[in-house]
Amino acid sequence: MNRVHNFSAGPATLPLSVLQRAQAELLDYKGKGASIMEMSHRSPEYTEIDAQAKERLKKLLGLGDDFEITFLQGGASTQFMMVPTNFLGKEETADYINTGAWSKKAIKEAELFGNVNVPFSSEDSNFSRIPKQSDLKFSDNPNYVHFTSNNTIFGTEFLKEPDTDGVPLVCDASSDFLSHPIDVSKYGMIYAGAQKNLGPAGVTLVVIRKDFLDKARSAGIPTMLRYRTHTEKIFNTPPVFAVYMVNLVLGWLEDKGGIDAMFNINKEKAKLLYGEIDKDDFYNGTAEEESRSYMNVTFRIGDEELEKKFLAEAGNANLSGLKGHRSVGGIRASIYNACSMDSVKALVDFMQNFRNQNG
Ligand code: PMP
Repeated sequence: MNRVHNFSAGPATLPLSVLQRAQAELLDYKGKGASIMEMSHRSPEYTEIDAQAKERLKKLLGLGDDFEITFLQGGASTQFMMVPTNFLGKEETADYINTGAWSKKAIKEAELFGNVNVPFSSEDSNFSRIPKQSDLKFSDNPNYVHFTSNNTIFGTEFLKEPDTDGVPLVCDASSDFLSHPIDVSKYGMIYAGAQKNLGPAGVTLVVIRKDFLDKARSAGIPTMLRYRTHTEKIFNTPPVFAVYMVNLVLGWLEDKGGIDAMFNINKEKAKLLYGEIDKDDFYNGTAEEESRSYMNVTFRIGDEELEKKFLAEAGNANLSGLKGHRSVGGIRASIYNACSMDSVKALVDFMQNFRNQNG
């Protein structure tokens, strides 16, 4: 078996123990003579997985009974549309902080529904930073404030929520969900595509506070697009295998000691990698230092030819998935929860050698 050091931005590496457990259970789930993929989503086996995953999420995040959790499809991109469908009427306003390409996509969808105020944008600095509190110019009475907690492409991250003076936050946490502690009391809703920190592609996690959900519109909204449809019960066939995998990843995270323990490891990984980047000016981080992401470490090296060489040689050294997003180029090491310290050390060793030979 040759498993690479996997720095893919998503779908991303999964814990080996989770893959092995899935492999062991694939053909015969708990003695039922069938895979979980081949059973009804109303079966006791799947119902237990759904309940356990929700329970684990509640425990990991410290959520009380005032939150609902549901597993949807259509990726985070569908949430860009579903959030305003439910929470933004024609004459109403929502605030959207613009810190990157995914924020922009969320804004574009919301504009189809109501008024969008942008309290901050870092577009003029190629999204190299997230706002300071004093940068934010909120509107008077927005229904919610939307932000992208981690900007997968540009390598910036909010490690602390913006202070909205009580207005519920709606967060696209696709690329840093469960990687560091959050203050859940500030959120009306959190959504995240699973394929970076939580499991395979195919399921989107949605956490909604009940009093926020109570404000959701329902008149004229198709059944499948209403959050209530999905929080009341399992309405239609969920992506059973993806949810099963998410549940295994959540179990793995519990075994690791939960979010605080994981954050400590993530900090160590990021420190090692940024330390290497900051040693001299051979490598150049693209994000401003205070805004740097603990999940997606983005940097440039000299000219594009040298970057090509870096990527080719990294590939030969068993280091995979390091190419920056096609819209920005450069190098991106995605070091999500399941990316091990060993992988980060292997990358840093490689970077040192590459600098010695090409610097
Ligand atoms: N938001 C963020 C922060 C992302 O990184 C991505 C995917 N890279 C998306 C949204 C889009 O997710 P999906 O492909 O699941 O629709």
